[in-house]
Amino acid sequence: MPTLLERGAFKNVPRELWLSYSWQIQNRIKTAKELSQYIDLTKEELSGINLTKGLYPMAITPYYLSLIDPEDINDPIRLQAIPREVEVSSCQELGEENPFREESEVLGLTHRYPDRVLLNLTSFCAVYCRHCMRKRIFAGGESSKTREEIDSWLRYIREQDSIRDVLISGGEPLSVGIEKLEYLLSGLREIKHVETIRFGSRLLVLCPQRFFDKEILNLLEKYSPIWINTHFNHPREITELTSLAVENLLRAGVPVNNQTVLLKGVNDSPEVMLELFRVLLRIKVRPIYLFHCDPIKGAIHFRTSIEKGLEIMRFLRGKLPGMGIPTYALDLPGGRGKIALSPNYIKEQDGNRFLFESPFGEVVEYEVFEI
Ligand SMILES: *Cc1c(COP(=O)(O)O)cnc(C)c1O
Repeated sequence: MPTLLERGAFKNVPRELWLSYSWQIQNRIKTAKELSQYIDLTKEELSGINLTKGLYPMAITPYYLSLIDPEDINDPIRLQAIPREVEVSSCQELGEENPFREESEVLGLTHRYPDRVLLNLTSFCAVYCRHCMRKRIFAGGESSKTREEIDSWLRYIREQDSIRDVLISGGEPLSVGIEKLEYLLSGLREIKHVETIRFGSRLLVLCPQRFFDKEILNLLEKYSPIWINTHFNHPREITELTSLAVENLLRAGVPVNNQTVLLKGVNDSPEVMLELFRVLLRIKVRPIYLFHCDPIKGAIHFRTSIEKGLEIMRFLRGKLPGMGIPTYALDLPGGRGKIALSPNYIKEQDGNRFLFESPFGEVVEYEVFEI
């Protein structure tokens, strides 16, 4: 069925504005009244929008909204963007706000693995995803860290020479003004032991227009090596604009990796995942992680079983190039780290003799010799 864009819902917006990041951000849809001009909201959604006010607010860029098929109440983009009552009702007693105990010694900085550090630069996002693992921060309003706070991060990182990689997240870190971004990046590049810098950014999905802007592309190129980890969950999120934005990033020397979250009703289907990873490879984005949905308060309704994730991983093997198959991973509670999950291809083992299951379902005998 056609999307809002295909139905001409935004045909009055001049092309120049549609392609402008700041227009998209300024015209985010934040109320039930505005949203009702485009979509007949269900009772569940109307009450969801009401009940989440001030707690888990709604904001949707016109671009992301335009990808929704308004006649499908279970549209995968609609489920990620529009609040439903289930967010606040049945799920409130389950889950935790911050199961991974993020943020430690220095405000907004989480140092869990010796070699990597996670920075939360801002609480602003282009779209507030209903399944966000940091939805606890939405209620605090939209603000980014001050230069003084950035200074305290830089001091911390300077003193810990085991840190080789800095992951800048949020909120949406690439929404922050160029000057502040440059302040952080130039500060990080003055620290010898910092090798790679990564942005955890969902703008390629929510507002790819950001990467039609020379200023941000030049900045990312200047402080190379910089990587982007983005977050596509469904093949319908990939458009011509996405593909152009990825080209711009690659030309600026920025590789793009994807981290999908397994979400009930959105992408908990082997066929949908296969299609998603195929389309990502076509636009030169490498799928690196498929995350099991975290036990986040207000997002429990998106969780699936682990068996579902393993079923998907088993289905993918043999149908996609190896570089298109992500690692299925789960974050352990209490900040104890991420682990990889995999279907078991060992059917039987007797010393050095194995019975393996092939990607085509055959049982294959294999003996391991060593000299
Ligand atoms: C996920 C995570 C990272 C990054 O892990 P990668 O596997 O390298 O992507 C770093 N720090 C924290 C606290 C994390 O949760």
